[in-house]
Amino acid sequence: MDQLHLLWEYQKADVEVDKMEASIKRSPTRQKLVKYRDYVMEQQTAIKRIEGEVANMADRLEALKDAIRMTDEQLRSLQTKMDNDPPANAEALQQFLSDAKRFQNNLNAYEQEVRRIRKDASDRERQQHDVRVRAAKAKAEFDKLKVIYDEEKKNKDQDLEALRAAATEKAKAIEPDFMERYQTIKRHSVPPLAQLYGDQCGGCNMSLPSAVSRRVKAGELVECETCGRLLILP
Ligand SMILES: [Zn+2]
Repeated sequence: MDQLHLLWEYQKADVEVDKMEASIKRSPTRQKLVKYRDYVMEQQTAIKRIEGEVANMADRLEALKDAIRMTDEQLRSLQTKMDNDPPANAEALQQFLSDAKRFQNNLNAYEQEVRRIRKDASDRERQQHDVRVRAAKAKAEFDKLKVIYDEEKKNKDQDLEALRAAATEKAKAIEPDFMERYQTIKRHSVPPLAQLYGDQCGGCNMSLPSAVSRRVKAGELVECETCGRLLILP
C-alpha cells in the first residue's frame, strides 16, 4: 500500500478518535453539569454582592446613630438655654423656635432613614437566605450528577484510549513528512483527505479541472484547489 492509502487508513482511525472526543465534550450529562456549576457560581456571586450591601448599610447605620446623638444633644442644649436664659423678645423667640424646628426635622429625617435601612437589611437577609437555599439545592444536584458523569466518562475514556491506540498503530507505517502534511491540512479542513469522484472533490463537492484527476491517477500528491484537501482515488 502506498503512503497515500496508508494515510487514508490512518484517517479513518483518526476520525473515530475525533468523534469520540467530541461526543465526550457534547455529553448531555456534562452540559447539565456545567449548567449546575455555573448556577452555583452565580448564586455565590449574588451572596457576596448582598453581603457587601449589608456591610454598607451597617456602616451607614453607625453614622446615623452618631448624627442622631449629636442632634439630640443640640436639642437638649437649646432646651437648657431656653430654661436658663429665656428669649427676651419676639425675634429671639422666633430664632429659638426656628433652630428647634430645624434640629427636630433633622432628627426625623435620620430616624426615617434608620427605619428604611433596617427594613432593607431584613429584606436582604431574606434574599440571602433564599439564594443560599437555591445554591445548596443546585450543589446537591451537581454532586449527584457528577457521580453519574464520572462513571460515564470512565467508560468513554476507555473507549477513547482504545481508539487512540488503534490510530497510533496505523500512524507507525506513515512517513513523517506525510503525517506533517496531513496535520497541516487538518488545521483548516477536516478530514484532511478526500476521495476524488470523477472530477469532483469528495470533501467540498467542487468540480476540479480534468487535469487534476490525471495527475492524481499518475500518483502525484494534489490538493483540492478549493478546500485544500489531499486528493485520493476511491
Ligand atoms: Zn475540495
